[in-house]
Amino acid sequence: MAIPKILLFYKFTPLPDPEAIRLWQRTLCEANNLRGRIIISEDGINATVGGDLDDVKRYVRTTREYAPFKDADIKWSDGLGDDFPRLSVKVRPELVTFTVPEEVKVTADGVQGGGVHLKPEQLHELVEARGEEVVFFDGRNAMEAEIGRMRGAVIPNTDTTRDFIDEIESGKYDDLKNRPVVTYCTGGIRCEVLSVLMKNRGFTDVYQMDGGIVRYGEKYGNDGLWDGSLYVFDKRMHIEFGQGAESLGSCVGCGERTPVFVNCANLACRKQYLRCEQCTEAGRVPTCGQCEGAPA
Ligand SMILES: [Zn+2]
Ligand SMILES: [Zn+2]
Repeated sequence: MAIPKILLFYKFTPLPDPEAIRLWQRTLCEANNLRGRIIISEDGINATVGGDLDDVKRYVRTTREYAPFKDADIKWSDGLGDDFPRLSVKVRPELVTFTVPEEVKVTADGVQGGGVHLKPEQLHELVEARGEEVVFFDGRNAMEAEIGRMRGAVIPNTDTTRDFIDEIESGKYDDLKNRPVVTYCTGGIRCEVLSVLMKNRGFTDVYQMDGGIVRYGEKYGNDGLWDGSLYVFDKRMHIEFGQGAESLGSCVGCGERTPVFVNCANLACRKQYLRCEQCTEAGRVPTCGQCEGAPA
């Protein structure tokens, strides 16, 4: 592969025939040798695909020819080559599985009733104006935040996006209901929904990081309010915004800082945990240590 690229985009827009979009997108990806993961619903599309630069460009051009996707905010990054094991294009009830499809209303203008979108510089203006009052609320799975997060962020106890409803209804965060809360996630899609769910449950001053950590990191690198590495769902596993980023997570074997998640050697366990390259080479801590029936 000459120049491997990965692109990420989502678009909330009514799609009356998601199955037709699925067939079109699958054919388009196959024709351009792209692999990755695309979810389509009646509310829009969420895509992460990778391939050679020229192929990815062709894919983008054609995707934009469909009027509802014309102005999609497409985020590009460098891949390693063969960044995804396969192509998966599916229709699902929700673009992101919060398990509440009926709560999300989408028009041609996007999700209705969500938090105010803040571009990276607007986010800094909010922090300047409101200071310590501002709370960052991580909209990802807790594991992702182990290696990087917004400074001082609240990290909900979530294994998957399904856990958010219970978390925000638990009462744990009720003291945030009248404070400015800024939700953030990798590329912004999870916050589009999460911010609606929070507003519907009594959070009164909700914002969302527009374009997610990806856009924030492009703007401020390691000189803003982001610390560490960004977890990503492809072969790269994590990315950093320039030199000098230090991951926040520690190897379970030796305690060294590392951004490297590995899969538990117990195949019945799907857990990922942090293990540094030295410990991996030495064969230390082959399992997560938290699963049933794992060898000691
Ligand atoms: Zn180690
Ligand atoms: Zn395990």
